[in-house]
Amino acid sequence: KTFEQLGLDERILKGLSKMGFRKPSKVQERALPLLMANPAQNFVGQSQSGTGKTAAFVLNVLSRLDLSPDMQTRPQALILAPTRELARQIVGVIQIMGQFLEGLIIGTAVPADSNTRPARMACSVVVGTPGTVMDMMKKRILAPNDIAVLVLDEADNMLDLQGMGDQCIRVKSALRPTTQIVLFSATFPEHVSEYSKKFAKDPNEIRL
Ligand code: AMP
Repeated sequence: KTFEQLGLDERILKGLSKMGFRKPSKVQERALPLLMANPAQNFVGQSQSGTGKTAAFVLNVLSRLDLSPDMQTRPQALILAPTRELARQIVGVIQIMGQFLEGLIIGTAVPADSNTRPARMACSVVVGTPGTVMDMMKKRILAPNDIAVLVLDEADNMLDLQGMGDQCIRVKSALRPTTQIVLFSATFPEHVSEYSKKFAKDPNEIRL
């Protein structure tokens, strides 16, 4: 399979070729058709880092955004990661992959060193850590109503951090019920399986 055959937008294909991605990795080839076919169906994937899972969920997110002038400033996708470093890396991938998508605005929601919080997250995609995202939602800086995809990257690592599982659940409960939940985890020990069952109902599942 090629990226073209996965039905990706021309501008996204251009971004991929700029990155030097010539064909989908196994996780991309298996996950993308499932993620894109039914925009409300949840997904749980087991995949080590280094297998290309970031591109898998970023491509799904970019494919679904409405970047018309009145929508590009409304968060439509939310990606949660356990650390600010990982969140920043994901932002970097979106910037490159989405460089030909006019109107794409990326927001970062991580613990800040200063108090320079915006009045409102006027962006199309938000990448952040669960605590900061939850806080921004509480303060109404981040509007949840148009979010159609929620991605949890490194779910196993997030759940090992004190309180993050609860924060993820709180964030999810602020979203509309049809939001697609996408969960990636390198491992599925008991506590992750239990959590993912509660969190992402009736998912498509892949294990690599
Ligand atoms: P990840 O598993 O998301 O951390 O990705 C691991 C590495 O593989 C990153 O350096 C990506 O840039 C690279 N990568 C991901 N997908 C592809 C692809 N389809 N072709 C070539 N490199 C890729």
